[in-house]
Amino acid sequence: MIGDDAVVRAPGASGQVTGAMPMLSATPTTTAPTGSTWSDRVAAANTGLAAGARWRRPLTFDARGPAGVLTEDGDEVVAFASNDYLGLTSHPAVVAAAHEALDRWGTGSGASRLVTGSRPVHDALEGALAAHMGTERAVVFPTGFAANLGVLSAFGQPGVRICSDELNHASIVDGARLARAEVAVYRHRDTDHLATLLATSPGPAIVVTDLVFSMDGDVAPLPDIAELCRRHGALLLLDEAHAVLGPDPAPHLGDLDVIRVGTLSKTLGSLGGFAAATRPFAELLVNRARSYIFTTAPSPADAAAALASLGVLDSAEGDALRARLAAHVARVAPGHPSPIVPVVLGSDERALAASAALRARGAWVPAIRPPTVPEGTARLRVSLSAAHSDAQVTLLLDALAEVRAAFAPDDGRRPVTVR
Ligand code: PMP
Repeated sequence: MIGDDAVVRAPGASGQVTGAMPMLSATPTTTAPTGSTWSDRVAAANTGLAAGARWRRPLTFDARGPAGVLTEDGDEVVAFASNDYLGLTSHPAVVAAAHEALDRWGTGSGASRLVTGSRPVHDALEGALAAHMGTERAVVFPTGFAANLGVLSAFGQPGVRICSDELNHASIVDGARLARAEVAVYRHRDTDHLATLLATSPGPAIVVTDLVFSMDGDVAPLPDIAELCRRHGALLLLDEAHAVLGPDPAPHLGDLDVIRVGTLSKTLGSLGGFAAATRPFAELLVNRARSYIFTTAPSPADAAAALASLGVLDSAEGDALRARLAAHVARVAPGHPSPIVPVVLGSDERALAASAALRARGAWVPAIRPPTVPEGTARLRVSLSAAHSDAQVTLLLDALAEVRAAFAPDDGRRPVTVR
């Protein structure tokens, strides 16, 4: 029997607590009246979002690297929010590779990979990614989001159960929704719960998890998950988007059926995503993953930038950049395993106020609110990069120390130790 608290949904549904985007609801809300036209419904939805401190808009940041200007008010700030973990977006060799690709192949690919969009640089990138990951093949997608959609919908066929950690990234949530498999959500990092869901699976199972979770920066219990997959013959989908400082999953994978998803958009400083697997799994993706087949190939310049970044990553310079990033993490959150350091504050208002107070001190750390994170866990999400200077990290620490007393978590919890 599945435990009472297991969330098992019919195909197409998902019980994930994260990743759901604000719905344009046709049902009246308590915060705004709903009319009978679409204009009325849109107005009501927008009013509801604004009233609940959930209104979002992008702030324009004129910057190359972490320091820059918020164009709205001219504030000079240092951003602690990017996923450019090693600063490769502005590495000279990476930028030069993108320039060369632009000059050789032009701006766009012009078609999907299976039509006429494939350039030599796509093949070279896939080969380099496979070598880097230690897999037979890698398949490049336009984004990491598209990679998760493609992999989950390609393998999550009817009769399959997808077991998904409740804090998985939105692209996994949406991929599971798109798949025609049943979706069963397990409690965050709870392998007992996962074991129950696997034991009761009516058919073949897929286990999908972030390796490093995007909003908490904690790590999946991979050895236990791999063992469960082995015991139940489950396919493991591992999203390694944020695993720049490890852990290295390879020692736990052995001969397991596994698809390792990554992004070109964070550590690799470009744009795109990939899935790395054995040849047959990769070939099925090429033939079945709709977010690979029915979309334009990544631009040659993006592919070339990612390829050049891989070269940096696998060199002594890459080791030095990772060590530098690890040293920053050790200063901000000793013992924390990743460059994503959450400071959970509880209410949306508290998180917004703390973010504003940091910004006034020159440190831009956006507030992360539901539905990106579960209700009542709004937070500052500090994200560190090797591109930060020691002085910039000092600025962050001083600013955090000043605002910390004023914005202690609602419930006294502090998930990580911020100095
Ligand atoms: N997976 C995870 C865990 C992520 O955090 C993200 C992006 N935030 C993605 C996938 C999507 O990657 P991309 O930005 O390349 O679409």
